Amino acid sequence: RLYNEVQDLKGNIRVYCRIRPFLPGQSKKQTTIEYIGENGELVVSNPLKQGKDNHRLFKFNKVFGPEASQEEVFLDTRPLIRSVLDGYNVCIFAYGQTGSGKTYTMSGPCISSTEDWGVNYRALNDLFEISESRKNSILYEVGVQMVEIYNEQDFYVSLDLHTLGIWNATLPNGLAVPEASMYSVQSTADVLELMNIGLMNRAVCSTALNERSSRSHSILTIHVRGTDLKNGAILRGSLHLIDLAGSERVDRSEATGDRLREAQHINKSLSALGDVIFALAQKNPHVPYRNSKLTQVLQSSLGGQAKTLMMVQLNPDVDSYSETISTLKFAERVS
Ligand code: ADP
Ligand code: MG
Repeated sequence: RLYNEVQDLKGNIRVYCRIRPFLPGQSKKQTTIEYIGENGELVVSNPLKQGKDNHRLFKFNKVFGPEASQEEVFLDTRPLIRSVLDGYNVCIFAYGQTGSGKTYTMSGPCISSTEDWGVNYRALNDLFEISESRKNSILYEVGVQMVEIYNEQDFYVSLDLHTLGIWNATLPNGLAVPEASMYSVQSTADVLELMNIGLMNRAVCSTALNERSSRSHSILTIHVRGTDLKNGAILRGSLHLIDLAGSERVDRSEATGDRLREAQHINKSLSALGDVIFALAQKNPHVPYRNSKLTQVLQSSLGGQAKTLMMVQLNPDVDSYSETISTLKFAERVS
């Protein structure tokens, strides 16, 4: 089975880093990335600054450079994703400032060919393929939910409730969002259709709303229920793919009103997430789940036997240097 592969992942919390390439109009920019080591080492520096403390070393379970393909990134998350079919709960987070490639990693760029597919479509494809190959021994059912968390107290169900049949199951490892409908899906095509609806509702392709999407957390949850055809035993697993709100600090002297409130909510929920993962990594008996909606919603899939992958996204541009350092400090704390 897949257990060995899963155990190779050593421990329940892993932190990967992905550095996006410079975008076409950005080719003359100076980079902050000095060195990427095979074994997960990363050295960053500010090319505009001199001095010996300018070079900072960070260590990850894995670092993907700007040339890494969507396929490569997926292959390194696949064992984790497959463990869902053996009954594990898995969370994969994309963390980073707006423009660092979170959505690219999780979903892919807007106009998607299969090569551009991000982790979410590839994960579903893989889960369907494996469940098909096991169909003589285990019957798998798959359901998906999409939820957006904005300003802490609000939930938005991104899918249009009337398009596909709702899977009326209350799962113990479901999201703690009663109003988020569950959709039963049979194939990746079903999911693509659903996600396109979700994306249209969320309108991430439109610039105005992309603004908004970078200030909310978006969670795609894939639930799996497997029935052993010999003895009727049931296993349940879940995969949460989370495109977090942009982690950038908002200048207090500039932001006011709604914008400031949003920034405070994002700040609060990202630090609450950091605190939860830190407590879990330290094996601290008290895990502060209650401090944000994000950690409350994911509580049953963070900790215990659950597995967590933090994908830390970096923009190599020198203008992003201070955000890069604050992102790397967050990563350092949770790893
Ligand atoms: P975020 O979701 O963190 O705000 P995006 O995923 O929207 O960032 O990425 C910002 C821009 O960079 C987009 O135009 C995206 O297509 C591009 N981009 C991000 N990562 C990559 C990558 N690995 N390869 C090519 N382009 C990328
Ligand atoms: Mg995004």
